[in-house]
Order: sequence, then structure tokens, then C-alpha cells
Amino acid sequence: MSLADRAKTVQVRPHGVSDHFPWRDKMKGDDDVLRYIDDASRLGLRVGLEYDLGVAPALRPSTREGLHYLIGALHQVEVDGEWIHYDAAGAFLKGQSKSYDEASRFADASLIVRMRERTLEVVRDGIERVGIDILGHATMSPLAALGDPEVLYPPEWQERLIRMCLEADVAIELNEAYGVPHRAFLERAQRLGARFSVGSDTHFALKPLDKTMAMIGAAGLAEDRFLAGRKVRAWSTPG
Ligand SMILES: [Zn+2]
Repeated sequence: MSLADRAKTVQVRPHGVSDHFPWRDKMKGDDDVLRYIDDASRLGLRVGLEYDLGVAPALRPSTREGLHYLIGALHQVEVDGEWIHYDAAGAFLKGQSKSYDEASRFADASLIVRMRERTLEVVRDGIERVGIDILGHATMSPLAALGDPEVLYPPEWQERLIRMCLEADVAIELNEAYGVPHRAFLERAQRLGARFSVGSDTHFALKPLDKTMAMIGAAGLAEDRFLAGRKVRAWSTPG
């Protein structure tokens, strides 16, 4: 979808745009991002970026300041030198594939523990060094595709992740495409005092936020805990 077409759907429902960074040969560095900010701003869009945590190159602080918001999300994680990609799990969670057939790869329970620990490290880096405002699809990974997320992401791990976001005033995204995080996670996050945001994660047409509305309703999330188009996080480049 072009930025011009994206700008038209703002009339249907207010939203911003958050392209992936990096993205192939189109979004490789600061200059590409600055051009994108200019192009999207000129169309009246609120401009964000979905920063690929753990793999994206650093952005200049001035580039980050030019964005209305910065989302950080994981799409793969490196554990002991081996990259674990989330594509198949993501397609399954989105309902694009009927089954998830990578389960045998995660038979080793210690691998799951290391994936969880590595996730926390990468998110921490995103919060402290990159300066993200929003943690995108926090629990989208092979773990969410393997079974009950409340088992694969133990409550104690969830609390560590939530507290990390909460202490830095980083919002936790409810993701329409993947339907994450799950209800108990959201209830826990609200109890601890977290902020939330809504991500359609649509790459194409603007669709209703049915899944998101059901998630908000089921977890009883308060409207005043959601970001409303303004940056709330006070962040400066780590000295
Ligand atoms: Zn993503």
C-alpha cells in the first residue's frame, strides 16, 4: 500500500503508519527513514516505525525524535549463535496456515528458556538504547504457536517483561493480526499499571479491529491506559 492510500484511511479511523525498519533496499538507514518521515508527514500521517529489535541498525537520535512514535518488535531471536525466525509461527497465529509444524525443533526445554531470556535482553536494549515507545506484538514467537502462552510464557517471565516496559513508560501493543498478548498477560499488565497501544499490523486494507476489541473487553482494559496519538515517554540518548 502506498503512503497516499494509507493517508486516505485516516478518514475512516484515526491511525498512524509504521513501516518496517530495516526493509530490504528501501529502508536501510537514517536517510531512508528521514525521507519516509517527510513523505508521510506531508500527507498528514502520524509517522512511526517498526524497529526490528536485535537486528536493525542504530538510528541517529535526531531521526528518532522526528518520529511520532517508535515501535520495537522481535521477528527472530539469536540463541547461542543460531537464528530462530518467527515467520512460520507468525503465519500460524495470523491464521494464514492451518498448522504449525516446527514443534520438534523446540522439544529441548532449555532452548525455550534461553529464547525467553534472550527476548528480555533484546527488549531491554530496545528500551534503553533504541528508545522505543511501544513494544509491538510482545509474545508473538514460536512459543505462542506451540501451545498455551500462559504455560510457555510463565507468569514470572511475563511480569519481568511487563515491569521493564512499565518502568520506562513503554506501552504494550495489542496486535490485531496475531491476537497477542493473551488475556492473562493483559490482565497482569493492567494490574501492574502498564500502558497499552493498538496495532492493526495490517499491511494492506484497513480492517475492523474486532479481535482487539474482544481482547480489550475480555481483559477489561481501561481506555485511559491506551496511548492516544501522543508520545508519553520521556527519553534521551543514553550518555
Ligand atoms: Zn512485526
